[in-house]
Amino acid sequence: MALVSHNKGVSYCGRAFLFLCLALAGCSTASRERPPDFTLVSEPEQVVVTEPAPIVAAKPVPAPTPPPAPVLAPPPAPTPTNRFTETWVPLERWSQVNSFAAPRRVSADASQVYAITASNGTMTVKIGSQTAHWNGLEYLLGFAPQIINGRPCIHNLDVRKNFEPLVTYPSGVVKSNRVIVIDPGHGGMDTGAKSAYNNQFEKDYTLDLARRLQALLVTNGWTILLTRTNDLNLALSNRVVFAEQHKADLFLSLHFNSSSPDHAQAGLETYCLTPAGMPSNLTRGFHDNAGLSFPNNKFDVENLQYAVLLHRAVLKVNGFQDRGVRRARFLGVLQGQNRPAVLVEGGYLSNPKEARQIADPAYRQKLAETLAGALLQDSGTVSLATHPPAATPPASEVKTN
Ligand SMILES: [Zn+2]
Repeated sequence: MALVSHNKGVSYCGRAFLFLCLALAGCSTASRERPPDFTLVSEPEQVVVTEPAPIVAAKPVPAPTPPPAPVLAPPPAPTPTNRFTETWVPLERWSQVNSFAAPRRVSADASQVYAITASNGTMTVKIGSQTAHWNGLEYLLGFAPQIINGRPCIHNLDVRKNFEPLVTYPSGVVKSNRVIVIDPGHGGMDTGAKSAYNNQFEKDYTLDLARRLQALLVTNGWTILLTRTNDLNLALSNRVVFAEQHKADLFLSLHFNSSSPDHAQAGLETYCLTPAGMPSNLTRGFHDNAGLSFPNNKFDVENLQYAVLLHRAVLKVNGFQDRGVRRARFLGVLQGQNRPAVLVEGGYLSNPKEARQIADPAYRQKLAETLAGALLQDSGTVSLATHPPAATPPASEVKTN
């Protein structure tokens, strides 16, 4: 229950000379107190050209449509009479309005931990801490709950953007004819993080995991597309445009994490975009303007529901090394998405033990199977347990020495 130092993480995915690209994509870590280490920038390799390269007419490439620019968050819509208007909402009143039992204090020591039992699970919050739990799974609130006039209170934005999405899930809406865009993080010169186990790059593992997940989901009749199918350097904006062009119902970006040179950090994290008005759990040194609203903020509710669904699933694979569901505003691959969008960090390549796990194809297959199982369960279709055997994943490019 102690406040975990999740927010200390300031990530770098792989090579620092790609810092700007990576910073917008997600992953990796150094302490917040330390600014990004630009001194690590590599000198470009010298290229010796022995003869002039033939001039080839470049095929015109249509310029990608830039993702919509962020706009200032609109003023709040008139609040329905059954919604809360105050900034801090007493937990007891929220429980009453939802016909839940009164919150109960569950901590025996001086800490003030309260549990609220909803119809589909139990929410636990701790006064003074952003760390909360939903059915045992950790997630981070936007604001630490407070005692006001002797009563435990939760921030209005956490009520709307965290509590309500969770207690209303599943919605009962069966989703079909899915178009899911899976985004293998990084690619080409953008290598992502380097494995502490075998020096393999994140970009290869993300592509392998994406292929495995695709092979499992296409057998369900869904359309599963990958933003890249080879070792290609692809801008974040092109990944957003790809999902838009294919009218994706869901965008899922796959990454592996790094806290190099710190080898201790381990565990799984799942990200979605920070709702307007709420501070981010991770800023990675970027100015976190809570007044901004992005196209993907229209999907705040589904974003969190998918993040929790997928995070809970993948935790089964790594022995519940839980670093929580988090919100970040700077993730360029999520901001412009006109659909629910989630970024999964499937373990730390900078941690030798986890890097060894990630190098194991069986681990990556398990990750893919749990992600696929969660999406199939969410859709109301058959679970993997009763589903015909999935197609054999395509041959992996990843060396497994
Ligand atoms: Zn990454």
